[in-house]
Amino acid sequence: MTKIIMRTPLVELDGDEMTRLLWKWIKEILILPYVELKSEYYDLSLPNREATHDAVTVAAAEAIKKYGVGVKCATITPNAERVAEYKLSKMWKSPNGTIRAMLDGTVFREPILIKGITPIIPTWTAPIIIARHAYGDIYKNTEIKVPADAVCELVVTHNGEKTRKEIMRFGSDGIAMGMHNLDASIASFARSCFNYALDKRLPLWFATKDTISKIYDHRFKDIFAEIFDSEYKQDFDTAGIEYFYTLIDDAVARVLRSSGGMVWACKNYDGDVMSDMIATAFGSLAMMTSVLVSPSGVYEYEAAHGTVTRHYYKHLKGESTSTNSMATIFAWSGALRKRGELDGNAALCDFADNLEKASIATIEDGMMTKDLAGMFLREGVTVRALNSKEFLEAIAQRLQVL
Ligand code: NAP
Ligand code: MG
Repeated sequence: MTKIIMRTPLVELDGDEMTRLLWKWIKEILILPYVELKSEYYDLSLPNREATHDAVTVAAAEAIKKYGVGVKCATITPNAERVAEYKLSKMWKSPNGTIRAMLDGTVFREPILIKGITPIIPTWTAPIIIARHAYGDIYKNTEIKVPADAVCELVVTHNGEKTRKEIMRFGSDGIAMGMHNLDASIASFARSCFNYALDKRLPLWFATKDTISKIYDHRFKDIFAEIFDSEYKQDFDTAGIEYFYTLIDDAVARVLRSSGGMVWACKNYDGDVMSDMIATAFGSLAMMTSVLVSPSGVYEYEAAHGTVTRHYYKHLKGESTSTNSMATIFAWSGALRKRGELDGNAALCDFADNLEKASIATIEDGMMTKDLAGMFLREGVTVRALNSKEFLEAIAQRLQVL
């Protein structure tokens, strides 16, 4: 069989623990037999981030900017425990945070729907796509402990002139936080969301707490409204879709009552929380695809879950694991399809479609990892819980005949 030739390299960001193993197996079992993989490889495992003083993360982000498409494995974000475990010289920052800041993008997360897995909200018959603003707010904040009898203020220095606003006169010990966002970043977030909604022909919802946060959140609301009216209203009318703004608590209530089928734009923190809720409700975090889209049209595909540490330690003890590789497979298929689109490489796009079809068919035929086995119910189909590698091999069997 002749393999599919790639024109432009895909930027490949390897990661840690259980997902690093899945990464290797996905390539060996599902991709390399079919594709003459052209990739520029960056090892973002924690040991290599330590060895390079995290320069590898910055280099990888630069490469994604250069080539346009990257695919990323889950990586450890070190905390104090990890610093000890990996004998780190520093608590390196989250690679996702570094890359998101460099690409200034929006993260779109979409559940993979499977016949036989009913969402916890059974009326959700269409996917709910979360668009998470990937810049600023508490992810780039400054925090401080404040002792009793202190005054905490916000100070802005501009051309040597200081504007002050009192946050709180502390009568007892407490805490304070400063955070920011940028008009330009909010505007590119808005445009990414309007474009994505048009691409998908789905309505766009956006919500903040502008009634309470009259300057900060209100700025988000205003920028979205201005850009929609001046640049997108006509295209939305033509596509027959709407832009709907409401308060965040109202949005949560409405989403729960809905049948799905919208792009839900969320501020950074709301998106972090809501994407986990949506993923769980649609089955599992392992059934959620995730793509970072920068305003300049650069794409980074990843899985939404972490490195599945608990499973990795079982694997190290020689025990069998049943780790769901769907999100990581879809990161690869998403990246290969986008590479194919940009290069006009139809064979690569078809391969990506088939890889997704084979993966979904495997589960719908009753063969899946343990996390899904308990929630799968389809008439006439018997469930078989497979281990991590058996699941990939079951997909490979279906892929061969597509
Ligand atoms: P996690 O890796 O997402 O796993 C949490 C639990 O969710 C697992 O123990 C497992 O539950 C279940 N799970 C997640 N993915 C699964 C999969 N593919 N198949 C089956 N079950 C799955 O989160 P974590 O344990 O909180 O974090 C581990 C490490 O990942 C941390 O070091 C964190 O920094 C990092 N992290 C990275 C990213 C990223 O790079 N995108 C995102 C989040 C976290 P059971 O144990 O019950 O089976
Ligand atoms: Mg999260």
